Amino acid sequence: MSVGRRATIVVMPLKDVAKEPQAVWDALQAGNQRFVLQQQERPNQDIVRRAELRDGQYPRAAVLSCSDSRVPVEMIFDVGLGDLFVVRTAGEILDPSVLGSLEYAIKSLGVELIVVMGHESCGAVAATAEALSGGTIPNGLERILIEKVAPSILEARARGMNSSDDFERQHIIETVVQIKHRLAPLRSGIAEGSCGIVGLRYKLSDGSVEHVISDGVE
Ligand SMILES: [Zn+2]
Repeated sequence: MSVGRRATIVVMPLKDVAKEPQAVWDALQAGNQRFVLQQQERPNQDIVRRAELRDGQYPRAAVLSCSDSRVPVEMIFDVGLGDLFVVRTAGEILDPSVLGSLEYAIKSLGVELIVVMGHESCGAVAATAEALSGGTIPNGLERILIEKVAPSILEARARGMNSSDDFERQHIIETVVQIKHRLAPLRSGIAEGSCGIVGLRYKLSDGSVEHVISDGVE
């Protein structure tokens, strides 16, 4: 795995890029840069594209993102209809339905890239850190969020990290590692060069995505 490196920028609609994980990742980075600079092209959002997708979808990447209303995936990457297969849960937590959706995206839709996107000021991460420091643990089903994020916070603390930024990054790393561990088609895709995974932290402050971890792309 490589950590912390940014790739070169390309200007091409996601649907037209080469069928390679790195090309898809480069196109997503280019779209994010347009979003950051407020130079969006808003591709694939017209009636023609809508009609052309009526009989099938060919997304190029699957994204697991936090459900946070401030993290709208298609807007952040400046893409449109049919470009991304998106799964969202609070705190980008995993369960069998999420993993099944990602495996479907790889095996049946042929996506070349899995993106895991956490973000700055994540409420699920903050609530878990607070609960682990003697704060309140929510009742009811909300408790699942704490249970799923807790191992990431504990791992970060064991490594001597204590800031919310570090907790968010560690949770992204743990989620990427878990997805790789659980999805055999992803592992074989990485080995063959047909698939990659990247973990990102969306920064609310400037709209950019911070590269946290990746495998199969850089
Ligand atoms: Zn969040």
